[in-house]
Amino acid sequence: MAATKETGVPAIEVRNLHKSFGDNEVLKGIDFHVDEGEVVCVIGPSGSGKSTLLRCVNRLEEPTSGTIVVEGVDITDKETDLDQVRTRIGMVFQQFNLFPHLNVTRNLTLAQMRAKKRKKAEAIEVAKRNLAKVGLSEKAEAFPPQLSGGQQQRVAIARALSMDPDMMLFDEPTSALDPELVGDVLDVMKQLARDGMTMMVVTHEMGFAREVGDRVVFMDGGVVVEQGKPEDVLGNPQHARTQEFLSKVL
Ligand code: ADP
Ligand code: MG
Repeated sequence: MAATKETGVPAIEVRNLHKSFGDNEVLKGIDFHVDEGEVVCVIGPSGSGKSTLLRCVNRLEEPTSGTIVVEGVDITDKETDLDQVRTRIGMVFQQFNLFPHLNVTRNLTLAQMRAKKRKKAEAIEVAKRNLAKVGLSEKAEAFPPQLSGGQQQRVAIARALSMDPDMMLFDEPTSALDPELVGDVLDVMKQLARDGMTMMVVTHEMGFAREVGDRVVFMDGGVVVEQGKPEDVLGNPQHARTQEFLSKVL
């Protein structure tokens, strides 16, 4: 998608990031960035550290060392107000984490009212707008267990969008879905990308990465092995590890 750089400051910049769990070093010096308006797809084998990288970006995990700068703010600095930073980052996980006992609208208004201090009427307006965006206006009163997995994931995307994030991080958003439900979720993500949203997408959907990604980053063993334009990384990988991975998934 067309990257519209407005500020010249990357949305996300990760420098020499290390993360260990006990003596298991999971990230071994990651340099990574996402420009404003850019869609970066992160691919790689299970256990390579993709989720850990994504979780470090909004500090669900604390880095062992290294620097992470979000929109010019160093979030590894102890002085930084993490709650403030997190309101600018929308997250969508493999598991949708909706509240099953609250209807769709309530799922979308709750965080807006708590974290953004919006009045109920305004929060409902924002919820409506974002439900329309994901094609689920008619499900405003439904409860999550009444929805398909694909619909629940689209609600989760609408919930994240209702916080007006500057960027969206997706961690395998379609991996828990039945195959016939994947397309609708990917279509919503494609539309977001077209609208210029800054996106970091961990995915096994190579078709999506090829079509929508501005850049593909291949990780293995806690390092970035190779990155570049989708047609280069997916179509003409330079490293043996990338070639081996792609031969299994393509
Ligand atoms: P990926 O998303 O690429 O599959 P992850 O980032 O989830 O990889 O995991 C990378 C490694 O980090 C795995 O060996 C995993 O067991 C380990 N790991 C991830 N999270 C934790 C945690 N909270 N505690 C201990 N080990 C973890
Ligand atoms: Mg993962």
